[in-house]
Amino acid sequence: MEEVKVLQITSNLSIDVVRKDIKNMHLAVYPPTGRVRIAAPLRIDDEAVRLFAISKIAWIRKHQRHFKAQDRQSPREFKLRESHYFQGKRFLLRIHEHEAPPRVEIKTKTYIDLSVRPNSTLEQKQTILNEWYRKELKKLIPEIIQKWEKKIGVSVAEWQVKQMKTKWGTCNIEEKRIWINLELAKKPIHCLEYIIVHEMLHLIERHHNERFLALMEKYMPQWKFYKEELNRFPVSHGEWSY
Ligand SMILES: [Zn+2]
Repeated sequence: MEEVKVLQITSNLSIDVVRKDIKNMHLAVYPPTGRVRIAAPLRIDDEAVRLFAISKIAWIRKHQRHFKAQDRQSPREFKLRESHYFQGKRFLLRIHEHEAPPRVEIKTKTYIDLSVRPNSTLEQKQTILNEWYRKELKKLIPEIIQKWEKKIGVSVAEWQVKQMKTKWGTCNIEEKRIWINLELAKKPIHCLEYIIVHEMLHLIERHHNERFLALMEKYMPQWKFYKEELNRFPVSHGEWSY
């Protein structure tokens, strides 16, 4: 396993840095999120890597814009057999029209069934599905928070599920309040847990610094796999951070 170090370059650009026995620096931007990775020779210090990254910022941004335009998941149209994700698994949509309260159900490994009133609009279908995602996500969160409150020794005063465009989660340190992105309902549960732990560790350390990374390593040594996994699954809009 290679040792990855995260370097914050600007307020909205961080890069993964890997030290290797090589002669020159290698820079790459990866789809779908535009993650940036630099492989640097062993003798090159962080400051030199930072300056190198800054000198390449126009190039990095160009490629990130390209991936962003190309790979964002198109808006769902609620067509038959369209893909919808739940807890990291892909399901095919079936729509049933009934004069009855709307309902979402997963009863098999293949289908997600959406029951709506006849002539429901796309927005109504989206709202019904989102509210179902919210309800399912809310079932999971309290237990995960309780588990980690004990392990980490912090307490969360309040949590909420929010629709956020660019962040998986946020933490208001003063209020001890955590917001979780509704999109996480679509991701594997361990990814949700990873984001919750990340936000809870901000109650100990505000910044993404060495201390924060050390805490992450201590409590969830496999966090980088979860991070990669989150970035590999389709996302709805653009770049994501937390
Ligand atoms: Zn954070």
